[in-house]
Amino acid sequence: MQELTHYINGTHVKGTSGRFSDVFNPATGEVQAKCPLASPEELNAAVAAAQAAQPAWAATNPQRRARVMMEFVRLLNRDMDKLAEALSREHGKTFPDAKGDVQRGLEVVEYCIGAPQLLKGEFTDGAGPGIDIYSMRQPLGVCAGITPFNFPAMIPMWMFAPALACGNAFILKPSERDPSVPLMLAELMEEAGLPKGLLQVVNGDKVAVDAILDHEVIQSIGFVGSTPIAQYIYGRGCSNGKRVQCFGGAKNHMIVMPDADMDQAADALVGAGYGAAGERCMAISVAVPVGDETADRLIAKLVPRIEKLKVGPYTAGNDVDYGPVVTAEAKARILGLVESGIAQGAELVVDGRDFKLQGYEGGFFVGPHLFDRVTPEMDIYKQEIFGPVLSTVRAGSYEEAVKLAMDHEYGNGTAIFTRDGDAARDFASRINVGMVGINVPIPVPLAYHTFGGWKKSGFGDLNQHGPDAFKFYTRTKTVTARWPSGIKEGGEFNFRAMD
Ligand code: NAD
Repeated sequence: MQELTHYINGTHVKGTSGRFSDVFNPATGEVQAKCPLASPEELNAAVAAAQAAQPAWAATNPQRRARVMMEFVRLLNRDMDKLAEALSREHGKTFPDAKGDVQRGLEVVEYCIGAPQLLKGEFTDGAGPGIDIYSMRQPLGVCAGITPFNFPAMIPMWMFAPALACGNAFILKPSERDPSVPLMLAELMEEAGLPKGLLQVVNGDKVAVDAILDHEVIQSIGFVGSTPIAQYIYGRGCSNGKRVQCFGGAKNHMIVMPDADMDQAADALVGAGYGAAGERCMAISVAVPVGDETADRLIAKLVPRIEKLKVGPYTAGNDVDYGPVVTAEAKARILGLVESGIAQGAELVVDGRDFKLQGYEGGFFVGPHLFDRVTPEMDIYKQEIFGPVLSTVRAGSYEEAVKLAMDHEYGNGTAIFTRDGDAARDFASRINVGMVGINVPIPVPLAYHTFGGWKKSGFGDLNQHGPDAFKFYTRTKTVTARWPSGIKEGGEFNFRAMD
């Protein structure tokens, strides 16, 4: 049995707490490795190494720091297949999807190569007689990030790339369910030229997270995961005086207008609802056709597409649409919610409960499910299912559809499918959701824009990646400088306007 490590101060370090968690191969159900769960002392060792390494890195000019990012991009491309294979083996997602996970992180690293431009400050020449004012963006010091299982390459890179490009040290506490890729990324950063101690991986659970939350040296915390944990980390981190951004769960609605191209809408829904087995925070989990006639047409298009979905292990390469879910508990939870949907009166149009895959009986596979006539009081509507289950809620009108998405507690992503530019504009303007797609089902913004949800999907005031990341990982210092030709009048005692 493979025993995974922490990565502290440039070295793989065995866990010393005596506590481990199982890392599964979700396709077979076998335990393939043990992940060490750090004690507060192990976290302290990483913080000490980070604190020692950070000042010299902060003093390295941003162009040199950017060159490390440039080399890291080259290494990510070199090792793309290796990373994707390790990712699929622990997460279960298909091989092409695992490459996409690495790629979407890599694109943020590419954006961070622009650090010298992004870190330029502001300058006012001649704010008063002999007076200039300038603002600098300085690194925070030691930063930490806590990441979820569903994007073990992309989300760590969304955090550590801008943090490091800004001159910080970064401690990553990845998900204990798929920790191998984060460890590989830390090694690659050092191969790219990052000095030791600046990117460390401390594996663990709540014990390590609480040690991060309470450590006085750690200046900022980025979190992505489920909403209850996001809210907990935001509250405790902020009350400890840290800068915190937390991104939580989702329930993304896709509104299908009567004038939409129904084939396009159905294709989009199948990809966005079932891709990665629905384990995406930007998955569409609720289809909202407007009008019964639209709903009937949409369901008729969806059913044959869903019935054709190929579910299998990542080793099948391109020949599979989605893989297993991450653990047996996740599978049981999803199937439990399916049962609750049936019990609460939703109509199960495609039933994936009996799905079995020959040769992979121990795997955590869940067949695709489609519900029709779901209503807002049902648990399958209120809760994030995070599995291959699409719910259809029939809306009587456009206004009813908009209200549905507006009233849901989550506000990560949403989409509208229509040919009507006026409806699309109105929707984009009024909806209280952070990321909106117009005829685009999964509107994940590219690296140079920012990513973040509203309502219970996001806590904090800055988004991930794009320009916001450079604000989150720096603080502003403003200097008012006077270089008089000589103070002839002596001291000044009144607080004056600079005129
Ligand atoms: P999770 O909340 O269970 O775990 C996330 C991280 O928190 C992990 O590193 C885990 O070790 C840690 N953690 C778990 N329980 C904890 C506790 N009690 N105290 C302290 N730390 C704890 O989430 P997950 O199952 O890994 O990921 C799926 C969730 O993440 C979904 O809800 C999904 O919507 C969400 N997600 C959101 C976004 C976004 O950008 N909004 C992106 C990806 C995933």
